[in-house]
Amino acid sequence: MRLFAWLITHNSLPTNSVRMFRHLTSDSSCSRCNHLHETALHTLRDCPLSWAVWMASHFPNLANFFVTDVCDWFRLHATGPDGSLFVTTCWEIWKARNEEIFQSNRKPIWLIVNCISNSHNFLLQVLNIPNRAHITRQVTWIPPTAPCLKLNVDGSSFGNPGRAGFGGLIRNDIGEWMHGFSGSCGHASNLLAELYAILKGLQLAWGLGYRTINLESDSKSAIDLILEDDNNFHPHAIVLGQIRILRTRNWSLSFSHTLREGNECADWLAKYGAQSDVNIKLWTSPPPQIAHVLVADATGVLRQRPR
Ligand SMILES: [Zn+2]
Repeated sequence: MRLFAWLITHNSLPTNSVRMFRHLTSDSSCSRCNHLHETALHTLRDCPLSWAVWMASHFPNLANFFVTDVCDWFRLHATGPDGSLFVTTCWEIWKARNEEIFQSNRKPIWLIVNCISNSHNFLLQVLNIPNRAHITRQVTWIPPTAPCLKLNVDGSSFGNPGRAGFGGLIRNDIGEWMHGFSGSCGHASNLLAELYAILKGLQLAWGLGYRTINLESDSKSAIDLILEDDNNFHPHAIVLGQIRILRTRNWSLSFSHTLREGNECADWLAKYGAQSDVNIKLWTSPPPQIAHVLVADATGVLRQRPR
């Protein structure tokens, strides 16, 4: 990173413009966006892909961000109150640019933002500096890899215990809606509603003939509980037993935990289920109320989660 900072402040970062100046290439354009000149400022700040990272990471200080000399820009912000975050962001953008050019691998924005957050926290730990940057954690819905389908489920209880319901949806690798469900489970706790959501989701997926499923829930307790071998004496042993039987069938089933912000569609369906009186409602097409969330999920839109 030291060398990286030195290269920027000496106009020597090997962008295509610099390489053309040194007769190492005949093309000075940005290979990511085809802009005519890939300068250091372009690649670190002005390239649409880089700008998307600055925006998605909610860099806290964008005052004087558009100075036109790269050395001034870098020095000004690297020595500012968010300097360590600034340098880390530039560094991760540069790494992502190189990975895309040399390994033909375009990292999604959310992943770059996560890398920034991790590298920055590591840097602060090494330097023993308290984290003053208001970095929020980025959460997004991550599509499954075909042929696997993703089943997001959620439970909801108004009162915990109180009027409760469950809901969920199955989507493919491009985020398309395949099926959804919602239903009421009477008067129940949050945990029981979460377990019902898992059970009903698995029953639906199996019944539809899907055999490779990644189930995602935002209830870590529910996931931990169903993965435990010894849950026979748990107060919810009946529903746990039904889930266990489903798990032993001949299919490829994995379980993962997400955060609430990454499980918005299932959350809406669970609340809908809790307010209804039907045992189970199957949705062949998505409810219009969550159409925008489905688009946001399919396009990898990030949600903020305070740390
Ligand atoms: Zn560009």
